[in-house]
This record gives sequence, C-alpha cells and structure tokens, in this order.
Amino acid sequence: MNNTTDSHMTRIRFWTIAAILILLAITPRPLSAAETEVPFSQWLEGVRQEAKAKGISGNFLKTALAGVQPIKRVVELDRRQPEFTLTFWRYLNNAINDKRISQGKEMLARHKDLLQKTAERYGVQPRFIAAFWGLETNYGRTTGVFPVLSATATLAHDGRRSRFFRSQLLAALTIMSRGDVDHRVKGSWAGAMGNFQFIPTTYKDFAVDADGDGKRDMWNSFPDMFASAANYLSRSGWQKGWTWGREIRLPEGFKVDLTGLNVRKSISRWRALGIKQMDGKPLPDVQTEASIVLPAGYNGPAFLVYKNYRTILTWNRSILYAIAIGHLADRLVGGAPFKSNHPDVEIRLSRNDIKEMQRLLSAQGFDTGGSDGVVGPQTRLAIKAFQKKSQLPADGYPTMGLVERLRNSPPGG
Ligand code: CA
Repeated sequence: MNNTTDSHMTRIRFWTIAAILILLAITPRPLSAAETEVPFSQWLEGVRQEAKAKGISGNFLKTALAGVQPIKRVVELDRRQPEFTLTFWRYLNNAINDKRISQGKEMLARHKDLLQKTAERYGVQPRFIAAFWGLETNYGRTTGVFPVLSATATLAHDGRRSRFFRSQLLAALTIMSRGDVDHRVKGSWAGAMGNFQFIPTTYKDFAVDADGDGKRDMWNSFPDMFASAANYLSRSGWQKGWTWGREIRLPEGFKVDLTGLNVRKSISRWRALGIKQMDGKPLPDVQTEASIVLPAGYNGPAFLVYKNYRTILTWNRSILYAIAIGHLADRLVGGAPFKSNHPDVEIRLSRNDIKEMQRLLSAQGFDTGGSDGVVGPQTRLAIKAFQKKSQLPADGYPTMGLVERLRNSPPGG
C-alpha cells in the first residue's frame, strides 16, 4: 500500500466517522421514560400528598413510604412479551398436574370443616375455593417476592399503565394503614397479594376478617383467606350450587357461528341443536343459559359454560384460566380428565407469525386494529370475517394453516 492510498483511506475513515457523528447529532433521539417524567422521589411526594388528602395518617405514610424504591426488574417483567402464543393443552398441562391435584385433595381434607362453613356462608363450593388457591399460589407456596409498595409505585411511576397502578398503590396504602397487613409485605411483581393473589383494590373491597381479630389477613389466617376468596366470587355473581360448565360433543356439521360467549341459549335449546355430553348422553335437564367455548378452535375440545364460568372471568379474563379453574375444581373431587383427543403436535404461533397474519388480514380489508402480535377481540373478529368469506369454519382461532392461506390469497382476491 503506497502513501497516497494510505492517506486516501485515512480521509475516508475521517469523513465516515464525521458523517456518523453528524448523523447522531441531528437524529432526534427519543427521550427515555425516566427523562420525560418527574423524578421518582418528587413523584412519590405527590402520592404522599394524595394519600394524606384521602385521610391516610401522615405518620403512617412517613414510615411506609420511607423505603419505597423503584424496582428495575418489575419494569422488565411488565414489558416482557412472550414469544409464542399460549395453546390450550400446553396451558392446561402446566396448570393442572397430578401433584397439584393430590395436594389440592389434601387441602380439601385438611380444611374440610372451615371450607364447608365458608361454602354455607357465601355459596361457593369448597372445590372452587381450593382450585383458585392451587392456581394462584400453589396452595400458598408462592405468594411473591416483591415489596408491594415498591412494585406498585414502580409501575405507577413508569407511565405505561400509571393510572391503574397509582390506584393500586393508594389501595395498598389504605389496607396497610388500617392495619390489615404490614407495609413491608411482599407480593407478585404487579402487586398481587397473599394466598389468593388479590390486587390491592380487590383486597380493599372484598377481603374479609372472618376470624374476628380485626385484621384481614390473606397470608396467615385460613378463615380470612377462604372467606375473602368466597366473598369476592359471591359478590362477582357466583351462583350457589351451580358448577362452571362441562366438556361437550358437538354434532356433525354444527354451525361454529353459534360458539363464543356472546351467544347464550337455554340448555334445552342446546339439546335441540344436538349438543351432547362426552359419553353421548343428553345434556342434563336443567334451567339455565349457557354458551359454547372453543379454546383451541374448531378442531379442539368444546365446552358448554354456565354463569359461574363468567364469574371466574371477572377474577381473571383469560378463557384458558377459567377452564383450568373449573377443571381443577372437578378433578379435586374425583372428576375425570378431559376426553377430547390431544393433537400430536400443537403448532404455536410466534409473535411474528401473528403480526404477519394481522398485516395480511388488514391488507385484505379485515381490520385487526394494528399488528401488535397479540390476538385480541378485534383480531379474532377479523379472523372470523376472513374465515366466513373463505367459507371456512368461522371460529376466529388463529392457526398456521390460516397464516399460510392468507399468504397465498392475494389482497382483494
Ligand atoms: Ca382476621
């Protein structure tokens, strides 16, 4: 390499670096969340004033808020997005296994009298209380490791869902100032507390002091925690003496349009439409309304669900969670596993697959309301509309087959 080339290269390097520096200087840099917001300590002072205005004692607030710090891990956990969608059988196998069933049976036996008393008072059967307990915290084994005040304060300050978490933080302060729980208490990263993982607003509104010691203790008092869970369910519309639903067999050629929680019919109407129990017997002759849920789409298991299924959904909006609660409750009292065939392979869609599907649907005029990689209600409606137009069973359920079909169907075609 001669000198001329050498200095030429140096010049190129110089101008390349200069160009990068200029680009960096003129490109608008998005401000990070922390830079756009009030500093944490200043922000927390605002919370203190608001809590005080709500009547919480200044002395208590001074002590309780003294150690409150933002927790980086909590923000990470809040922003984490699963790479793959949940599938029905994977979710169910994760939620319900032999150990969880045998431990639940043991808990039902150990707390038999107390659960019976709670059931008489609130109308929620012991097996359901035990099922929530099992799914929420593995019967009290995992109640969370994050200080509730710091966790909710972190998320309230963070800005992504600040309004919701500010109300959780204020509710937590209210509960603690009343002496229900210590201000240093720990819970989930999102502030859910105790054996039944009540978020602070639920705790504030529905927890019960059943043992009469003046505190609503969801950690150490079995009477308090069972009564609180039952009270919450009862006040959310639990129908005494009723179950949640059952696995069913759909008749040949059943119109998938009739499935979904928005379609409600009497049991006798469903009987007339050919719905049967899994063993082929007719549905029980009872007077109630029910809907059909297909958690794994048209080719998966089908469930007839009653009012209490909807009550479970007020506790947790996931249709998979609600089926898992109902099924675990049944298994705890000797119910059989589901009878529908497991698919050999469950193909999970990745976030990127879902995003692509959303883009393709929108391009074809089926508006998914953006392509965020999450299958929400609007995306399900868009899938349903595409399926109808393509004369497929319109279950609104995303599959790899559907993604492939969209890839091969030209926009407007
Ligand atoms: Ca108590």
